[in-house]
Amino acid sequence: DTIGANLDRAVAAWPDREALVDVESGRRWTYAEFGADVDRLAYALRASGVAKGDRVGIWAVNRPEWMLVQYATARLGAIMVNINPAYRTHEVAYVLGQAGVSFLFASLRHKTSDYRAMVEEVRAGLPGLRETVYFGDPGWEALLARATPEASAEPFEELSCDDPVNIQYTSGTTGFPKGATLSHHNILNNGYFVGEMIAYTEQDRICVPVPFYHCFGMVMGNLAATSHGACVVIPAPSFDPEATLEAVQRERCTSLYGVPTMFIAELSLPGFAEFDLSSLRTGIMAGSPCPVEVMKRVVAEMHMEQVSICYGMTETSPVSLQTRIEDDLEHRTATVGRVLPHLEVKIVDPATGVTRPRGTEGELCTRGYSVMLGYWNEPGKTAEAIDAGRWMHTGDLAVMREDGYVEIVGRIKDMIIRGGENIYPREIEEFLYAHPKIRDVQVVGVPHERYGEEVLACVIPSDPAQPPTLQELQAFCAGRLAHYKIPSRLRLLDSFPMTVSGKVRKVELREAYGT
Ligand code: ATP
Ligand code: MG
Repeated sequence: DTIGANLDRAVAAWPDREALVDVESGRRWTYAEFGADVDRLAYALRASGVAKGDRVGIWAVNRPEWMLVQYATARLGAIMVNINPAYRTHEVAYVLGQAGVSFLFASLRHKTSDYRAMVEEVRAGLPGLRETVYFGDPGWEALLARATPEASAEPFEELSCDDPVNIQYTSGTTGFPKGATLSHHNILNNGYFVGEMIAYTEQDRICVPVPFYHCFGMVMGNLAATSHGACVVIPAPSFDPEATLEAVQRERCTSLYGVPTMFIAELSLPGFAEFDLSSLRTGIMAGSPCPVEVMKRVVAEMHMEQVSICYGMTETSPVSLQTRIEDDLEHRTATVGRVLPHLEVKIVDPATGVTRPRGTEGELCTRGYSVMLGYWNEPGKTAEAIDAGRWMHTGDLAVMREDGYVEIVGRIKDMIIRGGENIYPREIEEFLYAHPKIRDVQVVGVPHERYGEEVLACVIPSDPAQPPTLQELQAFCAGRLAHYKIPSRLRLLDSFPMTVSGKVRKVELREAYGT
């Protein structure tokens, strides 16, 4: 199916149910209203010269218009290019040029970012960029006014579900982001199955504080919602723990999304206990490993008994592994679940590509409907990532258990090699997380003359007035972790360098504190 056809089905099945709520502005759409607004925007874009295959950029924080643009471009067969709202002129100019964007939607401003001023600055160098429309600006209404009755008379062009619909950039956790080209078939099916696994129905209301610009928001949030008749609730334009919990309470949300660091921020709000979160039933934690202590509190104190862990990557639309709602705490924290229907995963020797038996570690590979068409205009990089058998090589080390559940050991790039011993940061992070003086912790390898690398713990203390010392941490680990895994250096921080999708950029920690 195409995304447009899928939306038509939702409008026909649930016309009066809510599709979208923007908590900040108080605006709401039923499916019938949402479908009508999507069509109007699609006609307006067509009248503005946007045709099938054209790249339409979107450089914006979460707003309801973001979701309208997502569906309107899909309906036209245009390719939406998601641009990181944290980007500045140099980066946005690169992406607009690389993807050949001809029509751009952008936020007007958000916090200290003045998007219009930045677009003005780069526009001269981008002759292909014909028009920019800002959300919350009169230009938006002017655009919609082009959807006159005459402009709306012709039906939309026929599309194939294998047509590209989206260029989605990876998080840039390990380096420069790569643009994954995804089809209707890729992302629509993935959104549908992710929603199936947590039993979404038209009764569900999903609080989405994660960015729409990334697949977590726009696929696991928006596409999962419209595939099941559920409602998307936008708590705030960018992540704000208080606004998120308030939105859950006020809108009686049944599902809440986040990367683990977002849940940590919500749980550590001073007024956390006062929020009524009893409407929550499920939710998704994804993107990076979830510490056991956090999972316990999410289940017990946020009422998310059916919370699900997803593993995936932008290149696979994104989810390939997911825990099921009936899984126990152990499976929800030690593993990232088992393969989704109609997908395959295998674990291979990273050097030879030979499949490894269950219980042994190797590189995780994924195959099936969700694997991207390729990196946009980068055939070389595509060929490195997807092999001749159409297997996507994830760059993650994993173990498949006898029961098919997969444990993520870490990224190949993050592995620390100290004196010939392989060390996985995640194991040490999990361990240190239990220390009462530690609120959050990241472990990275930094150069060492004799051992090649040594273990650095970057710690956000629970109480900045009483930070832990290196000696305390070492004493805590002594006798419980092998000596080579015990951190030999400690760095106290107030925050970690993050991607907009909420992941810690270990690469930056290594660069900043590596000497
Ligand atoms: P880049 O490829 O640009 O370095 P990125 O890999 O972080 O950035 P994404 O596509 O957003 O970009 O993220 C995919 C990666 O996130 C996976 O390869 C994996 O390393 C990590 N990941 C995703 N889900 C989980 C999870 N549940 N547990 C552990 N790691 C996860
Ligand atoms: Mg990646």
